[in-house]
Amino acid sequence: MDSMVRITELVPESPTDLGLPHGSWWPHQREAVAATLSGFEQGRKVLVSAPTGSGKTLIGSAVARVQGGTSMFLAHTIYLQRQQLRTLLQAATATGRANHTCLLPDPFGQELTAAEAPCPCHFAREGGCGYYNQLFACADADEVVLNYAYAVRVCKAHGMKVTTIDPTTNQEVSLLLPNPFKGRDLLVCDEAHLLERALIDADTIDVHRRTFDQLQVPLPGTTELGAWKEWAKLWVTPVANRVTGLLKSFRAVEHPHRDDIREARRLQSAYSVLDEVLQINPQDVPYYVGRTPSGYQVRPLWAWETAHNLLFKYGRDVMIMSATVGDPHLTTRLLGIEPDDWTLVEVPSTFPLENRPVFYWPVMKMKHGNTDEEKMQQVHALAHLASKFPTSAGVVHCCSYTLGRFLYDNAHRYPDLQSRLVIHTATDRESVFADFEHNPSNRVLITPAATTGVDWGFVGWQMIPKVPFPDLSDDIVRLRYEYQTEEGEPIGKRVYLQEAALAIVQASGRCVRTPTDKGVTIITDGAFWTLFQFTSPLSFPSWFRDAVTWYKPGG
Ligand code: SF4
Repeated sequence: MDSMVRITELVPESPTDLGLPHGSWWPHQREAVAATLSGFEQGRKVLVSAPTGSGKTLIGSAVARVQGGTSMFLAHTIYLQRQQLRTLLQAATATGRANHTCLLPDPFGQELTAAEAPCPCHFAREGGCGYYNQLFACADADEVVLNYAYAVRVCKAHGMKVTTIDPTTNQEVSLLLPNPFKGRDLLVCDEAHLLERALIDADTIDVHRRTFDQLQVPLPGTTELGAWKEWAKLWVTPVANRVTGLLKSFRAVEHPHRDDIREARRLQSAYSVLDEVLQINPQDVPYYVGRTPSGYQVRPLWAWETAHNLLFKYGRDVMIMSATVGDPHLTTRLLGIEPDDWTLVEVPSTFPLENRPVFYWPVMKMKHGNTDEEKMQQVHALAHLASKFPTSAGVVHCCSYTLGRFLYDNAHRYPDLQSRLVIHTATDRESVFADFEHNPSNRVLITPAATTGVDWGFVGWQMIPKVPFPDLSDDIVRLRYEYQTEEGEPIGKRVYLQEAALAIVQASGRCVRTPTDKGVTIITDGAFWTLFQFTSPLSFPSWFRDAVTWYKPGG
């Protein structure tokens, strides 16, 4: 029997047969499940490119259920983690220590989170504090749902340090139980276009000046990585000795003084910074060292050397899903996946093309140094588009707060438009979004912060006046952009273009979340044509390319 036919027969006629809360498959889901299982059978990681509304979580859950082993699902944020639990009803979930309260009675005169607590205490057990309870629940569960930031930290822990009573002596003793997240049969990474960033964030070392000042350990005062490695070499042993000495003294007293506990926490966090800096090998991947308001940041520019150790090795099979996978050859390189170690499963869109058209209408080319007079053309275009949709809510993805403010302030020439406009700042974003969702009417929201993560099926039209290229005035963006391989391949430029392309594709999906939603996207920046020409065609999924009408062919 053909292997694909055999595998498809393993996937039941209905998701309910797998215990999933959906009566029937949506189009292409069953085939996507079978194709993923087939990829695993060939020993490959599977990238699933599935457009908005194709039911990615159900596809991933079904793969896990057909396999029948243990699985770990990763979402980008706690909000999306909760969304996955609506499909994975039996899954256990866990979040980072900062989300849990410590049960110890007010040791420092204030309520502590588990992140600040001197763990483990006698509540580090099943039925103990909230943080440990969730770990025990995960250890017992076949399916667990975590977020990226927590997963990459917790997976690498050797085990789970708990407290138990020794039945022979009736005394409390510490035990190291196995890490509940290691050795899962399946690892499912959702929102995979954000995965590289999540891995880099997890590998970033934040150096807090205050901690080191209090320990009287002077920082290097330079952004040269060699000096930081020398500094770590010099201080790691003295700090380790201080930690050991303090912990030894704790054992001699029943209730250590709170100042000593604080000192121990400072020393432990300083030690882990020193140890991490010491382990950096700049031959593997370039690092950036930069100043931050609280001290310094030591950050890898790429995740290709670390992705396996931080994440992929915790699943026997690995599934990487997104509506915007990008060019899979480039995306897998960024994640350190070898060329013959992956396969792509593409799920077609079931949303009718006529419900989600994308128009390229280049009113002008946006670039650094545009005059106000030039940018006014975008204001005129906005007024024109708003007049074409007098009763629909609209969104302007303005790319930056500066451009957003320019559009808003100059709309006074068009009173009809101005009365419909809504704008927000970085600080009132959440409340403005909530108000817009609650009462969209025919209002037009100007925002640089809604290309991902919002479901606005009520929006009838969207304008993209500027291609959202990453900001080259940011040191890290610039260093990545300039990066070339030893062979001179400008991989940094390719990534830069792909990031802009994916942001456009993501933005276009905001207003069409179900097959019956209707929403038009109009790109008015002439730079989009350049982006389209110089970016790998694979960076734009076919369901997006098919929707584009070139109002002015050739840009
Ligand atoms: S184990 Fe103890 S110290 Fe740690 S968070 Fe729980 S209650 Fe607090």
